[in-house]
Amino acid sequence: TPKQKSDLHLSPVEKILSAQVIAHETAHQWWGDLVTWSGYRDQWLVEGLANYSSMMLLESQEPVQFRAAMQKYREEQLSKNKQGDPLMDAGPVTLGTRLSSSHFPAGYEAISYGRGTWLFHMLRCMMRDAETKSARGSVGTQSVAADEPFVRALQKMRDRYQGKAISTLEMLRVFEEELPRPLWYEGKKSLDWFYQGWVKGKAIPRLELRGVKYSDKSGSTSVSGIILQKDGPEDLVTAVPVYALIGAKTILLARVFADGPETSFRVSAPAGARKIVLDPYQTILARTR
Ligand SMILES: [Zn+2]
Repeated sequence: TPKQKSDLHLSPVEKILSAQVIAHETAHQWWGDLVTWSGYRDQWLVEGLANYSSMMLLESQEPVQFRAAMQKYREEQLSKNKQGDPLMDAGPVTLGTRLSSSHFPAGYEAISYGRGTWLFHMLRCMMRDAETKSARGSVGTQSVAADEPFVRALQKMRDRYQGKAISTLEMLRVFEEELPRPLWYEGKKSLDWFYQGWVKGKAIPRLELRGVKYSDKSGSTSVSGIILQKDGPEDLVTAVPVYALIGAKTILLARVFADGPETSFRVSAPAGARKIVLDPYQTILARTR
């Protein structure tokens, strides 16, 4: 259940979030009532999924409001308590209600909803990008497709776990079944890297590009460079979408695994590409400034 305040004292983005309460509660009929959670370490997944379900609806109807809401969730993670510590320091989503303490009184709510929502957004976007990329080799779209790997995984989850409890690892196993080949880190059809770094971790890294070079071949341009991943643990792995900007178009080139603080990469771009950017649609819970 999300927090609900009197509308009088809400900022515009808080009003957007407050308006999602009914969709969030409706989504609990699937995530929370039909499928329940195994233990306190898994409770975040029903809150995160119910909330992300309401966000998917918002995205399809009001994409500008959706982006504002996601931005708000990110800012909350970075906001500081009275002692000056960022809320994200309360811990990973898997701490459950133990996230709330005298040090971070709203820890559970803000992290299981906010970071939880972001984790599902990350999963959905990277699976969609990777499937689009491997199937058609074309541009990733921002629209909601009925048949996308994330939605297929949720349908499997509902079918297999209705009337039962699911753990975080069991849920990730279902997502792994739909994991497109480009997301097989080190050749394994596994989300272990996501579980270790993002679900069991609390980082919000800063992603930057360095030393980008372009070399034209016949019919394409080869782009190389380095992705810096700052403010994260040494072993954090993130699937970072690399786009080319050509005229007014953004073209998804690849999802590159940023592995630790510095990762060199080489991707192929349309001929003549001279500008690339990381994650322009903000599909990763990363710092933006
Ligand atoms: Zn709820």
